[in-house]
Amino acid sequence: MIAPVDRPQSETQPLYHRDYISFSAIGTYQQCPLRYYFKYVAGLPEKFTTASLAVGGAIHHAVEYHFNQLMAGDEPPSRDELLSAFWEGWQSRCSNTAIRFGKHENLDVIGETADRVIEAFRASDFARPDGRLLGVEEELREPLIPGLPDILGRIDLIVETADALKIIDLKTARSRWSAGQAERAGEQLLLYAALAKDLVPGKPIQLEFAVITKAKAPTLECFGVSLNQPRIERTKRVMRSVWSAIESGHFYPVPSPQACPGCSFRNECAAWSG
Ligand code: SF4
Repeated sequence: MIAPVDRPQSETQPLYHRDYISFSAIGTYQQCPLRYYFKYVAGLPEKFTTASLAVGGAIHHAVEYHFNQLMAGDEPPSRDELLSAFWEGWQSRCSNTAIRFGKHENLDVIGETADRVIEAFRASDFARPDGRLLGVEEELREPLIPGLPDILGRIDLIVETADALKIIDLKTARSRWSAGQAERAGEQLLLYAALAKDLVPGKPIQLEFAVITKAKAPTLECFGVSLNQPRIERTKRVMRSVWSAIESGHFYPVPSPQACPGCSFRNECAAWSG
């Protein structure tokens, strides 16, 4: 297991008191700068989360439990143990914030989804990694980009095989990804590669998305992402530009049918006068 890093301050602490930034915070700014402001600068609590996001978080919790058991040298957890871990993850989200269900969503439907996803996960090769598990939900933090706070990455799975160090991020999705879609979404993994570059000196890094669908017949597919140094540098430059905009106080709404329905700051947004 990798030595733990100092735990960062809460992601919801106001920006000017934080000394790190995560890829997901930068992504929030890119999606809607005003949402970033409400969450990270004003430090407003999320009033609700969508059931879909809560299911994704609960699946992550169950998968994390599975790999932690393997890393401790124990047998893979049973289906019932993974379902318990799923509901534990679900409960922890319910205790922090209200859950907003979509049309046709209720606890029975979510229970059936959890059942099917966990079956698909247990049956997959991904659940039995070929190599040594080095980290599960591992936090890596480095002063990676001059002029920015430390960059924080929370890596779902780190596996050392005979010829590579695999950095894996688990995604839950409504539908299957294509290889091109994984490649296009690769910035997050490229940043993780930069954070993990000294973990096992001399060993090449491989990047992978494991994508599990929450469909009627769930699938779990793994997609490699090319390790491309110019693209890593480009990602860093983009992060620097975003940070510069944040520091300059450039906050404005970017309404969209994808983001706004799941945004818990809609009232504040409507009242914001610019
Ligand atoms: S409601 Fe939409 S535009 Fe307003 S802050 Fe939220 S995501 Fe941005």
